[in-house]
Amino acid sequence: MIKFPGLDILWSALPEARVVGGAVRDTLAGKPLADVDLASPLSPDEVMARLTAARIKSIPTGLAHGTVTALVEGQHFEITTLRRDVATDGRHAVVAFSDNWQEDAARRDFTINAMSMDRAGSLHDYFGGLADLQAGKLRFVGEARIRITEDYLRILRFFRFFARYCVGTPDAAAVAAIEELRDGVLGLSAERVWSEVKRLLAAENPIASLQLMQTTRVLDLVLPQGFDIPHLAALIARGAPVDVLLRAATLLAGDIETISKRLKLSNDEAEILQSLQIPFALLPDAADADLRRALADTEAPTLIARSWMSGNWPDLRARLAATLRPVFPLQGRDLTEFGIPPGPRIGIILTAVRRWWLAGGCVANQAACREQALLIIVK
Ligand code: ATP
Ligand code: MG
Repeated sequence: MIKFPGLDILWSALPEARVVGGAVRDTLAGKPLADVDLASPLSPDEVMARLTAARIKSIPTGLAHGTVTALVEGQHFEITTLRRDVATDGRHAVVAFSDNWQEDAARRDFTINAMSMDRAGSLHDYFGGLADLQAGKLRFVGEARIRITEDYLRILRFFRFFARYCVGTPDAAAVAAIEELRDGVLGLSAERVWSEVKRLLAAENPIASLQLMQTTRVLDLVLPQGFDIPHLAALIARGAPVDVLLRAATLLAGDIETISKRLKLSNDEAEILQSLQIPFALLPDAADADLRRALADTEAPTLIARSWMSGNWPDLRARLAATLRPVFPLQGRDLTEFGIPPGPRIGIILTAVRRWWLAGGCVANQAACREQALLIIVK
Protein backbone atom coordinates (compact mmCIF):
# COMPACT_ATOMS: atom_id res chain seq x y z
CA MET A 1 0.00 0.00 0.00
CA ILE A 2 1.29 3.45 -0.88
CA LYS A 3 0.95 6.05 1.84
CA PHE A 4 1.29 9.73 1.06
CA PRO A 5 -0.41 12.83 2.45
CA GLY A 6 -3.56 13.61 0.48
CA LEU A 7 -3.45 10.42 -1.58
CA ASP A 8 -6.51 8.85 0.09
CA ILE A 9 -8.60 11.92 -0.66
CA LEU A 10 -7.42 11.87 -4.26
CA TRP A 11 -8.21 8.18 -4.56
CA SER A 12 -11.77 8.71 -3.34
CA ALA A 13 -12.28 11.07 -6.29
CA LEU A 14 -10.41 8.84 -8.78
CA PRO A 15 -10.72 5.26 -7.49
CA GLU A 16 -9.55 3.69 -10.76
CA ALA A 17 -6.32 5.73 -10.87
CA ARG A 18 -3.05 4.01 -10.00
CA VAL A 19 0.22 5.29 -8.68
CA VAL A 20 2.87 4.82 -11.38
CA GLY A 21 6.60 5.11 -11.97
CA GLY A 22 9.02 6.28 -9.31
CA ALA A 23 6.64 6.23 -6.35
CA VAL A 24 5.85 2.54 -6.86
CA ARG A 25 9.52 1.71 -7.34
CA ASP A 26 10.64 3.65 -4.30
CA THR A 27 7.87 2.27 -2.10
CA LEU A 28 8.99 -1.25 -3.00
CA ALA A 29 12.63 -0.27 -2.46
CA GLY A 30 11.78 1.17 0.95
CA LYS A 31 12.93 4.66 -0.04
CA PRO A 32 11.16 7.88 0.94
CA LEU A 33 8.81 9.41 -1.64
CA ALA A 34 9.34 12.97 -2.81
CA ASP A 35 6.26 13.02 -5.01
CA VAL A 36 3.56 10.73 -6.31
CA ASP A 37 2.44 10.51 -9.94
CA LEU A 38 -0.72 8.75 -10.99
CA ALA A 39 -2.16 7.45 -14.22
CA SER A 40 -5.81 7.11 -15.12
CA PRO A 41 -7.77 5.44 -17.91
CA LEU A 42 -10.13 8.44 -17.87
CA SER A 43 -9.62 11.27 -20.36
CA PRO A 44 -8.07 14.48 -18.99
CA ASP A 45 -11.46 16.21 -19.20
CA GLU A 46 -13.08 13.45 -17.17
CA VAL A 47 -10.26 13.64 -14.61
CA MET A 48 -10.78 17.40 -14.29
CA ALA A 49 -14.54 16.95 -13.91
CA ARG A 50 -14.10 14.33 -11.19
CA LEU A 51 -11.69 16.53 -9.29
CA THR A 52 -14.01 19.53 -9.54
CA ALA A 53 -16.95 17.44 -8.31
CA ALA A 54 -14.85 16.38 -5.31
CA ARG A 55 -13.90 20.04 -4.67
CA ILE A 56 -10.25 19.30 -5.38
CA LYS A 57 -8.34 22.09 -7.08
CA SER A 58 -7.00 21.05 -10.47
CA ILE A 59 -4.60 22.69 -12.90
CA PRO A 60 -4.52 21.72 -16.59
CA THR A 61 -0.70 21.44 -16.60
CA GLY A 62 -0.23 19.65 -19.88
CA LEU A 63 -3.58 18.77 -21.31
CA ALA A 64 -2.08 17.96 -24.71
CA HIS A 65 0.05 15.29 -23.05
CA GLY A 66 -2.84 14.24 -20.87
CA THR A 67 -1.55 15.63 -17.60
CA VAL A 68 -3.68 17.31 -14.94
CA THR A 69 -2.24 18.46 -11.63
CA ALA A 70 -4.39 18.04 -8.53
CA LEU A 71 -3.75 20.00 -5.34
CA VAL A 72 -4.68 18.12 -2.18
CA GLU A 73 -3.57 19.10 1.32
CA GLY A 74 -0.81 21.26 -0.14
CA GLN A 75 0.56 18.35 -2.21
CA HIS A 76 0.74 18.36 -5.99
CA PHE A 77 -0.20 15.18 -7.81
CA GLU A 78 0.24 14.74 -11.54
CA ILE A 79 -2.45 12.57 -13.05
CA THR A 80 -1.76 11.49 -16.61
CA THR A 81 -4.17 9.69 -18.88
CA LEU A 82 -2.85 6.33 -20.09
CA ARG A 83 -0.93 6.75 -23.34
CA ARG A 84 0.69 4.89 -26.15
CA ASP A 85 3.32 6.22 -28.51
CA VAL A 86 2.18 6.97 -32.03
CA ALA A 87 5.45 8.38 -33.34
CA THR A 88 8.90 8.99 -31.86
CA ASP A 89 11.95 10.74 -33.29
CA GLY A 90 14.57 10.23 -30.61
CA ARG A 91 13.61 13.37 -28.72
CA HIS A 92 9.86 13.88 -28.70
CA ALA A 93 6.93 11.51 -28.84
CA VAL A 94 3.50 11.93 -30.36
CA VAL A 95 1.09 10.10 -28.07
CA ALA A 96 -2.48 8.87 -28.18
CA PHE A 97 -4.65 8.32 -25.13
CA SER A 98 -5.39 4.77 -24.17
CA ASP A 99 -7.36 2.84 -21.59
CA ASN A 100 -4.93 -0.06 -21.49
CA TRP A 101 -2.61 -0.21 -18.51
CA GLN A 102 -0.11 -2.55 -20.10
CA GLU A 103 0.19 -0.31 -23.16
CA ASP A 104 1.05 2.59 -20.86
CA ALA A 105 3.59 0.50 -18.98
CA ALA A 106 5.18 -0.62 -22.26
CA ARG A 107 6.17 2.93 -23.22
CA ARG A 108 8.00 3.51 -19.94
CA ASP A 109 11.77 3.15 -20.01
CA PHE A 110 12.84 0.50 -17.48
CA THR A 111 11.06 -2.45 -15.91
CA ILE A 112 11.53 -0.97 -12.43
CA ASN A 113 9.82 2.24 -13.66
CA ALA A 114 6.94 0.47 -15.38
CA MET A 115 5.01 -0.82 -12.38
CA SER A 116 1.76 0.59 -11.06
CA MET A 117 -0.10 0.14 -7.80
CA ASP A 118 -3.82 0.54 -7.28
CA ARG A 119 -5.88 1.86 -4.40
CA ALA A 120 -6.15 -1.59 -2.79
CA GLY A 121 -2.38 -1.94 -2.76
CA SER A 122 -2.17 -4.50 -5.59
CA LEU A 123 0.99 -4.30 -7.64
CA HIS A 124 0.66 -4.44 -11.44
CA ASP A 125 3.99 -5.50 -12.80
CA TYR A 126 3.84 -6.44 -16.47
CA PHE A 127 7.56 -6.68 -17.18
CA GLY A 128 9.17 -8.19 -14.11
CA GLY A 129 10.10 -4.91 -12.49
CA LEU A 130 9.90 -6.15 -8.90
CA ALA A 131 12.27 -9.06 -9.53
CA ASP A 132 14.70 -6.69 -11.27
CA LEU A 133 14.50 -4.19 -8.43
CA GLN A 134 15.19 -6.91 -5.86
CA ALA A 135 18.10 -8.24 -7.91
CA GLY A 136 19.52 -4.75 -8.50
CA LYS A 137 19.07 -5.06 -12.27
CA LEU A 138 18.19 -2.28 -14.67
CA ARG A 139 16.58 -3.50 -17.88
CA PHE A 140 14.78 -1.67 -20.63
CA VAL A 141 11.16 -2.55 -21.21
CA GLY A 142 11.37 -4.32 -24.55
CA GLU A 143 14.39 -4.20 -26.82
CA ALA A 144 17.07 -1.80 -25.64
CA ARG A 145 18.07 -0.65 -29.15
CA ILE A 146 14.53 0.25 -30.10
CA ARG A 147 13.79 1.97 -26.81
CA ILE A 148 16.91 4.10 -27.13
CA THR A 149 16.24 5.19 -30.71
CA GLU A 150 12.75 6.27 -29.60
CA ASP A 151 14.31 8.65 -27.05
CA TYR A 152 18.06 9.08 -26.65
CA LEU A 153 17.62 10.66 -23.23
CA ARG A 154 17.08 7.09 -22.05
CA ILE A 155 20.83 6.51 -22.41
CA LEU A 156 21.44 9.08 -19.68
CA ARG A 157 18.46 7.90 -17.66
CA PHE A 158 20.01 4.43 -17.68
CA PHE A 159 23.04 5.78 -15.81
CA ARG A 160 20.88 7.74 -13.36
CA PHE A 161 18.85 4.70 -12.35
CA PHE A 162 21.83 2.37 -12.53
CA ALA A 163 23.57 4.56 -9.95
CA ARG A 164 20.57 4.54 -7.66
CA TYR A 165 19.27 1.00 -7.74
CA CYS A 166 21.85 -1.34 -9.18
CA VAL A 167 24.65 -3.54 -8.06
CA GLY A 168 27.03 -5.69 -10.05
CA THR A 169 27.29 -6.17 -13.78
CA PRO A 170 25.01 -4.03 -15.92
CA ASP A 171 22.56 -5.60 -18.35
CA ALA A 172 24.54 -6.76 -21.41
CA ALA A 173 21.84 -5.89 -23.93
CA ALA A 174 21.53 -2.38 -22.53
CA VAL A 175 25.28 -1.81 -22.55
CA ALA A 176 25.63 -3.08 -26.13
CA ALA A 177 22.80 -0.84 -27.30
CA ILE A 178 24.23 2.18 -25.48
CA GLU A 179 27.66 1.62 -27.04
CA GLU A 180 26.13 1.35 -30.46
CA LEU A 181 23.82 4.34 -30.18
CA ARG A 182 25.72 6.65 -27.85
CA ASP A 183 26.09 9.42 -30.48
CA GLY A 184 22.38 10.04 -30.05
CA VAL A 185 23.07 11.99 -26.85
CA LEU A 186 24.67 14.69 -29.03
CA GLY A 187 21.19 15.54 -30.30
CA LEU A 188 19.80 16.22 -26.83
CA SER A 189 19.36 19.77 -25.58
CA ALA A 190 22.00 21.02 -23.16
CA GLU A 191 19.31 21.64 -20.52
CA ARG A 192 18.19 18.02 -20.54
CA VAL A 193 21.75 16.74 -20.43
CA TRP A 194 22.73 18.95 -17.49
CA SER A 195 19.55 18.08 -15.64
CA GLU A 196 20.34 14.37 -16.06
CA VAL A 197 23.96 14.85 -14.97
CA LYS A 198 22.74 16.54 -11.80
CA ARG A 199 20.32 13.73 -11.03
CA LEU A 200 23.06 11.19 -11.55
CA LEU A 201 25.35 13.11 -9.21
CA ALA A 202 22.57 13.20 -6.60
CA ALA A 203 22.77 9.42 -6.21
CA GLU A 204 24.34 8.26 -2.97
CA ASN A 205 27.33 6.85 -4.88
CA PRO A 206 27.47 7.52 -8.63
CA ILE A 207 31.03 6.29 -9.14
CA ALA A 208 30.28 2.84 -10.63
CA SER A 209 27.76 4.40 -12.96
CA LEU A 210 30.22 7.12 -14.04
CA GLN A 211 32.81 4.44 -14.70
CA LEU A 212 30.29 2.64 -16.87
CA MET A 213 29.62 5.94 -18.66
CA GLN A 214 33.33 6.18 -19.26
CA THR A 215 33.83 2.64 -20.58
CA THR A 216 30.79 3.00 -22.87
CA ARG A 217 32.32 6.34 -23.95
CA VAL A 218 29.15 8.26 -23.23
CA LEU A 219 30.93 10.46 -20.70
CA ASP A 220 33.30 11.76 -23.40
CA LEU A 221 30.28 13.00 -25.32
CA VAL A 222 28.58 14.55 -22.31
CA LEU A 223 31.71 16.15 -20.82
CA PRO A 224 34.12 16.61 -23.76
CA GLN A 225 36.16 19.12 -21.73
CA GLY A 226 37.22 16.28 -19.49
CA PHE A 227 36.44 14.70 -16.15
CA ASP A 228 38.24 13.26 -13.17
CA ILE A 229 36.35 10.31 -11.69
CA PRO A 230 39.06 9.39 -9.11
CA HIS A 231 38.90 12.95 -7.72
CA LEU A 232 35.15 12.57 -7.20
CA ALA A 233 35.62 9.06 -5.78
CA ALA A 234 38.04 10.50 -3.21
CA LEU A 235 35.57 13.24 -2.28
CA ILE A 236 32.82 10.68 -1.69
CA ALA A 237 35.17 8.34 0.18
CA ARG A 238 36.04 11.06 2.66
CA GLY A 239 32.36 11.42 3.50
CA ALA A 240 31.55 14.75 1.88
CA PRO A 241 27.84 15.63 1.93
CA VAL A 242 25.75 14.76 -1.14
CA ASP A 243 25.96 18.16 -2.77
CA VAL A 244 25.45 18.06 -6.52
CA LEU A 245 27.46 21.17 -7.34
CA LEU A 246 30.33 20.23 -5.04
CA ARG A 247 30.40 16.88 -6.79
CA ALA A 248 30.20 18.49 -10.23
CA ALA A 249 33.05 20.86 -9.36
CA THR A 250 35.13 17.89 -8.28
CA LEU A 251 34.30 15.80 -11.33
CA LEU A 252 34.62 18.42 -14.04
CA ALA A 253 37.95 19.12 -15.63
CA GLY A 254 38.61 21.95 -18.06
CA ASP A 255 37.55 25.56 -18.17
CA ILE A 256 34.42 26.04 -16.07
CA GLU A 257 33.20 29.01 -18.07
CA THR A 258 33.24 27.00 -21.30
CA ILE A 259 31.52 24.07 -19.61
CA SER A 260 28.88 26.31 -18.02
CA LYS A 261 28.03 27.85 -21.38
CA ARG A 262 28.00 24.54 -23.18
CA LEU A 263 25.76 22.78 -20.66
CA LYS A 264 23.68 25.96 -20.14
CA LEU A 265 24.10 26.13 -16.39
CA SER A 266 22.13 28.80 -14.54
CA ASN A 267 24.12 31.86 -13.52
CA ASP A 268 23.95 30.80 -9.88
CA GLU A 269 25.25 27.33 -10.68
CA ALA A 270 28.05 28.68 -12.85
CA GLU A 271 29.06 31.10 -10.12
CA ILE A 272 29.19 28.36 -7.50
CA LEU A 273 31.26 26.09 -9.74
CA GLN A 274 33.59 29.00 -10.45
CA SER A 275 34.00 29.73 -6.74
CA LEU A 276 34.87 26.08 -6.13
CA GLN A 277 37.68 26.20 -8.68
CA ILE A 278 39.72 28.37 -6.34
CA PRO A 279 41.99 26.06 -4.35
CA PHE A 280 41.50 25.80 -0.61
CA ALA A 281 44.35 27.77 0.91
CA LEU A 282 44.05 26.93 4.60
CA LEU A 283 46.16 24.25 6.25
CA PRO A 284 44.76 21.97 8.97
CA ASP A 285 46.80 23.79 11.63
CA ALA A 286 45.77 27.27 10.48
CA ALA A 287 45.62 29.94 13.20
CA ASP A 288 42.31 31.56 14.17
CA ALA A 289 43.47 34.75 12.46
CA ASP A 290 43.98 32.82 9.20
CA LEU A 291 40.45 31.48 9.46
CA ARG A 292 39.04 34.97 10.02
CA ARG A 293 41.02 36.32 7.06
CA ALA A 294 39.69 33.58 4.81
CA LEU A 295 36.14 34.19 6.04
CA ALA A 296 36.43 37.93 5.47
CA ASP A 297 36.81 37.19 1.75
CA THR A 298 34.67 34.09 1.34
CA GLU A 299 31.55 32.74 3.01
CA ALA A 300 31.92 29.70 5.24
CA PRO A 301 29.87 27.26 3.07
CA THR A 302 32.14 27.96 0.10
CA LEU A 303 35.30 27.51 2.16
CA ILE A 304 33.93 24.31 3.66
CA ALA A 305 33.05 22.98 0.19
CA ARG A 306 36.57 23.80 -1.03
CA SER A 307 38.02 22.03 2.00
CA TRP A 308 36.09 18.86 1.14
CA MET A 309 37.58 18.98 -2.34
CA SER A 310 41.14 19.05 -1.06
CA GLY A 311 41.22 16.87 2.05
CA ASN A 312 39.53 15.47 5.09
CA TRP A 313 39.93 17.97 7.90
CA PRO A 314 36.96 17.66 10.22
CA ASP A 315 38.49 19.86 12.92
CA LEU A 316 39.25 22.65 10.50
CA ARG A 317 35.75 22.46 9.04
CA ALA A 318 34.20 22.58 12.50
CA ARG A 319 36.30 25.63 13.36
CA LEU A 320 35.29 27.35 10.10
CA ALA A 321 31.62 26.65 10.77
CA ALA A 322 31.94 28.01 14.31
CA THR A 323 33.83 31.19 13.42
CA LEU A 324 31.80 34.35 12.88
CA ARG A 325 32.41 35.99 9.55
CA PRO A 326 34.32 39.20 10.27
CA VAL A 327 32.90 42.34 8.71
CA PHE A 328 35.25 45.17 7.72
CA PRO A 329 33.99 48.03 9.90
CA LEU A 330 34.83 51.02 7.68
CA GLN A 331 32.71 52.51 4.90
CA GLY A 332 33.09 55.31 2.38
CA ARG A 333 31.06 57.65 4.53
CA ASP A 334 33.60 57.38 7.38
CA LEU A 335 36.11 58.91 4.99
CA THR A 336 33.82 61.67 3.68
CA GLU A 337 33.43 62.67 7.33
CA PHE A 338 37.17 63.22 7.33
CA GLY A 339 36.72 65.62 4.43
CA ILE A 340 37.76 63.31 1.60
CA PRO A 341 35.60 64.25 -1.39
CA PRO A 342 33.63 61.46 -3.07
CA GLY A 343 35.75 59.89 -5.80
CA PRO A 344 38.34 57.21 -6.52
CA ARG A 345 40.50 58.20 -3.58
CA ILE A 346 37.89 56.85 -1.18
CA GLY A 347 38.18 53.37 -2.66
CA ILE A 348 41.97 53.50 -2.61
CA ILE A 349 42.06 54.43 1.07
CA LEU A 350 39.41 51.84 2.00
CA THR A 351 41.41 49.15 0.25
CA ALA A 352 44.56 50.14 2.08
CA VAL A 353 42.84 50.13 5.48
CA ARG A 354 41.18 46.80 4.72
CA ARG A 355 44.56 45.30 3.87
CA TRP A 356 45.88 46.52 7.22
CA TRP A 357 42.77 45.15 8.98
CA LEU A 358 43.26 41.73 7.31
CA ALA A 359 46.96 41.67 8.20
CA GLY A 360 45.99 42.19 11.83
CA GLY A 361 43.65 39.19 11.76
CA CYS A 362 40.40 41.18 11.27
CA VAL A 363 40.23 42.23 14.93
CA ALA A 364 40.58 46.02 14.64
CA ASN A 365 37.27 47.72 15.43
CA GLN A 366 35.78 50.75 13.74
CA ALA A 367 37.59 53.30 15.86
CA ALA A 368 40.95 51.63 15.18
CA CYS A 369 40.21 51.48 11.47
CA ARG A 370 39.28 55.15 11.41
CA GLU A 371 42.57 55.98 13.10
CA GLN A 372 44.43 53.94 10.54
CA ALA A 373 42.56 55.75 7.76
CA LEU A 374 43.64 59.10 9.23
CA LEU A 375 47.26 57.94 9.26
CA ILE A 376 47.04 57.10 5.58
CA ILE A 377 45.31 60.39 4.74
CA VAL A 378 47.91 62.60 6.41
CA LYS A 379 50.77 60.71 4.81
P1 ATP B 1 12.86 10.31 -9.80
O1 ATP B 1 12.73 9.83 -8.40
O2 ATP B 1 14.29 10.48 -10.22
O3 ATP B 1 12.01 11.48 -10.17
P2 ATP B 1 11.07 8.90 -11.54
O4 ATP B 1 10.86 7.46 -11.82
O5 ATP B 1 9.93 9.66 -10.95
O6 ATP B 1 12.36 9.03 -10.67
P3 ATP B 1 10.91 10.72 -13.72
O7 ATP B 1 11.99 11.18 -14.63
O8 ATP B 1 10.29 11.72 -12.81
O9 ATP B 1 11.52 9.50 -12.90
O10 ATP B 1 9.81 10.03 -14.62
C1 ATP B 1 8.62 9.47 -14.08
C2 ATP B 1 8.26 8.17 -14.80
O11 ATP B 1 7.91 8.45 -16.16
C3 ATP B 1 9.39 7.15 -14.86
O12 ATP B 1 9.37 6.30 -13.73
C4 ATP B 1 9.06 6.40 -16.15
O13 ATP B 1 8.08 5.42 -15.93
C5 ATP B 1 8.46 7.48 -17.03
N1 ATP B 1 9.44 8.16 -17.89
C6 ATP B 1 9.99 9.38 -17.69
N2 ATP B 1 10.82 9.73 -18.68
C7 ATP B 1 10.80 8.72 -19.55
C8 ATP B 1 11.43 8.48 -20.80
N3 ATP B 1 12.29 9.37 -21.32
N4 ATP B 1 11.15 7.33 -21.44
C9 ATP B 1 10.28 6.43 -20.93
N5 ATP B 1 9.66 6.58 -19.76
C10 ATP B 1 9.90 7.71 -19.07
MG1 MG C 1 9.88 11.85 -10.70
